[in-house]
Amino acid sequence: MKVSVDPDQCEANGICVGIAPDVFELDDEDVLHIHSAEVPAERLADVEDAVAQCPKAALRLE
Ligand code: SF4
Repeated sequence: MKVSVDPDQCEANGICVGIAPDVFELDDEDVLHIHSAEVPAERLADVEDAVAQCPKAALRLE
C-alpha cells in the first residue's frame, strides 16, 4: 500500500502527524512530507486511521 497527499487539499492541521509522526511530518513552511510512501505492514492501521481522519480528505491510500 502506498500513501500520498494532495498538497492542494492539505491544510496542514497536523492530524495525520499526530496519529503517525514516523510517517507524516510538517516542515517549517507547513508543507506535509511523507517519510516512506510505501507503508510498512505494521504501520498500516495507523496510516489508515490518518487517512480516515484527515478533515480535508487530502490523503490517499492505494
Ligand atoms: S490530516 Fe490532512 S489536512 Fe491535516 S496535515 Fe494531514 S494531510 Fe494535511
